[in-house]
Amino acid sequence: MLKKEARKITGGLSAPSKMPGPAYNLPAVACITGAKLAQVPGSVCHGCYALKGRYRFPNVQQALQRRATSIKHPDWVKAMTALIMGHKYFRWHDSGDIQSPEHLCKIFEVCKRTPSTKHWMPTREARFLKLMDPDIIPSNLIIRMSSHMIDQGPVTFWPWTSTVSSSTKTCPALDQGNSCRDCRACWDRSVPNIVYPKH
Ligand code: SF4
Repeated sequence: MLKKEARKITGGLSAPSKMPGPAYNLPAVACITGAKLAQVPGSVCHGCYALKGRYRFPNVQQALQRRATSIKHPDWVKAMTALIMGHKYFRWHDSGDIQSPEHLCKIFEVCKRTPSTKHWMPTREARFLKLMDPDIIPSNLIIRMSSHMIDQGPVTFWPWTSTVSSSTKTCPALDQGNSCRDCRACWDRSVPNIVYPKH
């Protein structure tokens, strides 16, 4: 499939300056758990950047909504594969989250079809992870379960996690110009938990 057609189907990828590869966004308002957490002071989603600023512009909202609707397109897997193929690193859901078990299965299929790409997907949707054995995840994908509250420890039911702390961090991005530079810890299955600083 041509990239032009793939972009039309999926709404396209984003290119966050911090990351070593492209990313994919869904509307934060569609986050099943995150939209509720956004109302809870002290949660990692409270004051979510993807619910403010330029993300509220109607054209940005429309583009995000197109992406959300496109997940059900019969050629979504083919189109995402065409866009991701050739990139060494990819981040799922710079904003947004898993919408359903069917959505997760489609993501697995995209990962299987792009074996040379390392995929990282953070999530707050414990409901989907609790349904499955981590061994069924494609080996080039890491799903990190994010804890809901700032200063909460990592969850214990899942092998790869992330937390947000007001006093410590393991993510070096802030000390290196808000960039990952050579760090690939988020994609690394040998790193069980990443601690991001509260910002
Ligand atoms: S831990 Fe490393 S890879 Fe993850 S966001 Fe921070 S700098 Fe990037």
